[in-house]
Parts: sequence; C-alpha cells; structure tokens
Amino acid sequence: MFDNLTDKLDKAFHILKGHGKITDVNVADTLKEVRRALLDADVNFKIAKDFTTRVKEKAIGENVLTTLQPGQLMVKIVKDELTELMGGDVAGVNLSGNPSVILMSGLQGSGKTTFSGKLANFLKTKKQKNPLLVACDIYRPAAINQLHVVGDQIGVEVYSEPENKNAVSIAENAIKHAKANGFNVVIIDTAGRLAVDEEMMNEIANVHQAVKPQETLFVVDAMTGQDAVNTAKAFNDRLDFDGVILTKLDGDTRGGAAISIKSVVNKPIKFIGTGEKMDAIDVFYPDRMADRILGMGDVVSLVERAQEQYDEEEARKLQKKIAKNEFGFDDFLTQIQQIKKMGSMKDLVGMIPGAGKALKDVEIQDDAFKHIEAIIQSMTPKERSKPSIIDMKRKTRIAKGAGRKIEEVNQLMKQFDQMSKMMKMMQGGGGKNLMKMMGG
Ligand code: GDP
Repeated sequence: MFDNLTDKLDKAFHILKGHGKITDVNVADTLKEVRRALLDADVNFKIAKDFTTRVKEKAIGENVLTTLQPGQLMVKIVKDELTELMGGDVAGVNLSGNPSVILMSGLQGSGKTTFSGKLANFLKTKKQKNPLLVACDIYRPAAINQLHVVGDQIGVEVYSEPENKNAVSIAENAIKHAKANGFNVVIIDTAGRLAVDEEMMNEIANVHQAVKPQETLFVVDAMTGQDAVNTAKAFNDRLDFDGVILTKLDGDTRGGAAISIKSVVNKPIKFIGTGEKMDAIDVFYPDRMADRILGMGDVVSLVERAQEQYDEEEARKLQKKIAKNEFGFDDFLTQIQQIKKMGSMKDLVGMIPGAGKALKDVEIQDDAFKHIEAIIQSMTPKERSKPSIIDMKRKTRIAKGAGRKIEEVNQLMKQFDQMSKMMKMMQGGGGKNLMKMMGG
C-alpha cells in the first residue's frame, strides 16, 4: 500500500537522519521533499502546502533543532499531522435505527456492489446483525444479478424487484420487507454512472429523501486519485453523506485520495476495501494508516487479525500434540489455512514494521503456500501424521501427484523436521535446549 509515497518520505527523512548537526536548512529541505512526495502521491497542491506549513510551525514550536533526535521528532510530527489530516479518530457507523438504513452511493465501477456485500458480511459476522441487501439499480439487470451472487456468497438475503423501475418505491418496499421479517440493517445498493450526471444525482437524492438513511456512504476507487476527491465533492454537495469508503487500496494506489479526501469534504473515511473477496474490508484507522504510510507497519492490526483467527481450544489441542511429538502435516496445513484467513500475504507483510521496505522488490504472491499445500495434500493421512514413513518411492509419487519437483518435497520434509525439533525443544527444557542448539 502506498509503497512509492512511503519510499519518498523515507528518503526525505534521510536528510535529517544522516547529518551530525541539523540546521534549519536541513529541515527546510526535508519539508520540501515531504511536500514533493505528497504531490507525487496525487495529493492536492494546497493540501500538501498547508500540511508542510503546519509541520514546520510545529517543528519550530517544539524546538526540533535542539532536541537529541531531531529526525525522529520530525517523523512524529509528520505522523501526527497525517493522522489529523486523515480524520484523527476512527469513525463508526450509525446503527441506531430499526432497521438501520445504509444508503450506498458512488460511480459505476467504484466497488459499490462489492462493498455492499462486504459491509453486510462484516455486520453479520462481527456485529451480530441481520442485514438485508437491496438492489436498487433500475438500469442494469446485471447489477441486480451481481448483488444476488454476492448475497449468496455470504448468506445474506437480497431484496430486488426487477420489473419495478422506480428506485424510491423499491427502497421503501425493501424497508417494509425488512421490518416485517426481522432484518435490523438495510443496505441499499444504488445505480451508478460512469461519471457524475444530473439524472443519477436526482435519483439517489430522491431515494435519500424518501428513506432518510441513518448512514449515507460514498464509495470511491482510491486508484483514481484526485478524481476521487472531485467526485466525492460532487456527491457530498448533493447528498451531504456521512462517510467515505475507499476501495481498491490493495492495488498500486498512490495514496492521494486517502490523504486528501477528509479535508476536502470534511467527512471521515469509514472503511477501506483491500481486495475483491468478501472479507477484504477494514475499518479505517487514521493513525494506523499514517504508520503504514511512514513505513512503520501496523502491528496493532496484525495482532487483531491473528486474534480473530485464534481459537483457544484449538491452540490447546495443538500444544498437547506438540508436547507429545504428534504435530503432523495435517496440523501444519491447518496453520497455513489460518494464516491465509488473516488476509493477503502482501497486506500482512505490509503490516510488519520495516518489512514493506525491506521486501519492496520481492514479489509477494498470495498463492505462496499453494505448492506446499499441494504436496501435503498428495500425502496419505497416515503419512501426514507420521512423515518418517515416507520413503524415496513415496516421495516421487507425492511430487508427481502435486505436480512439483522431488527436491521441493525433500525441502518441505526437511523444514518440517527442523520445525518439529524446534517445537519440541521449546516445549521441553524451556529455552535451554534451544540455546544449546544455537551454540549458546
Ligand atoms: P460498482 O459498479 O460500483 O457496483 O462496482 P463493483 O462492486 O462491481 O466493482 C467493480 C470492480 O472492482 C469489480 O471487478 C470488483 O471485483 C472490483 N473491486 C471492488 N472492490 C475492490 C477492492 O477493494 N480491491 C480490488 N482489487 N478490486 C475491487
């Protein structure tokens, strides 16, 4: 995420970190580079300029030049300002209505339908809500079908009236349907156009007025940079929406939209979309995003994701198995599957402080575990629980079954063996045996 910006900001701070004595010329140079980095990331000129002016004032106020570590203090000031620029505190979603009505707006292709599904899934699984999705696109039958496909995927009912050409009446009927059937959240996916046009704006404004949603969310493709900001302004002028959803942040986004949008429309970013799958949704935390932009990773989110997958009972069972030396390839496979559930590899690596930068040129593939999984799946259940019985002949068969080379099977078995030994040592004599093995 925002690799280029992170890289440029890092270079800007290098100016301060590299010198023995820091002068105000160094600080000015750094700020110039920070501004350039923001402009390159497609941040609006005025926002970038105001930003560096504020950072400079703060730096003077805090006597940066006389502190022990001026570089670090500058990074902190920039981080705080970035956080503030992106909204300061995390903004929640208003779910006070019964049902709570959430109206989705945005251009066609912004990711509205996908996000409607993600949000329904999020509210269902994380907030124990019972959401109803509503297809209000009266122009494209394909859009209605798409929402049904999404609904099926996540097990959420979709309300649609393919013959009805009146968006307001569909929305009203859907709310009646929700009330009568115990749905406590109604998410209305509306029609989008390729560009802002009057007819679309009128239609969504009419729906807005008729259903009086608790939340009106504006969905925008982060890849479109300054255009995203301009579109947000057009929608906000008309709808006075409550929050922004930035989608496609998993792509090669420069970051301008994330940084500028809040200060242009004065509405917070509430969620971000980080992939096409239904679980690729994150609550937007301005401070964590600032950390990521500055290459400091996002350990809090990483730990949260790990916790979400953590199952105490399973963990205990696993511990027992390790103690009894019964940890097998099936357990290994389960572990891999849990890691995969935490999100895309690229995303996870980006959350480790410094890793994004260190692995900048390394192609991180989401199917990194695919070959390992294929090899394990080619083993018989017995072999998986007792790998030592796998002989050369079986190795050849396993490699063939998985479509991999025999060297890879050997390598995996060797790594697995080392890992099992390591686990046993950690279990047994505390860290002592491990120290011994490492020559300590
Ligand atoms: P709509 O026209 O606004 O309803 O947009 P869609 O929901 O149909 O999304 C348009 C395209 O963007 C689809 O191919 C989606 O799979 C894709 N998409 C949506 N959100 C994301 C995201 O967060 N990341 C990525 N990479 N693709 C997304």
